[in-house]
Amino acid sequence: MDEKVMKTEEEWRESLPPERYRVLREAGTEPPFTGKYVHAKEDGMYHCGACGAELFSSDTKFDSGSGWPSFTEPAVAENVELRSDKSLFMRRTEVLCRRCGSHLGHVFDDGPGPTGKRFCINSCSLDLEPAEK
Ligand code: FE
Repeated sequence: MDEKVMKTEEEWRESLPPERYRVLREAGTEPPFTGKYVHAKEDGMYHCGACGAELFSSDTKFDSGSGWPSFTEPAVAENVELRSDKSLFMRRTEVLCRRCGSHLGHVFDDGPGPTGKRFCINSCSLDLEPAEK
């Protein structure tokens, strides 16, 4: 894995647009069906919206109907960190970028295919790098 990215919250606040800061650094959630990648079908690699680490491939993206981009697994497992999240009176598993510690979304056990996982990720935590055609 690449070097960890360490910034103070003040530096993050200055370097990210407000909506991205709220989701990535304050574990916010974008409203469903509003993110730019909900229905995206382009081939490519989704990178961390804060530090640029490679996180998810379009190959594993599926239409979950949830209103957020959904993936069956990370592209680079070691770039993603999972953490128990008991906020909002729910028991969930938070998904974070391991390189910079930013919040990406949550993972659930109701996904399709062999992994059975549904990585439910905020669009605004991601930047798609389109595949070369
Ligand atoms: Fe990151």
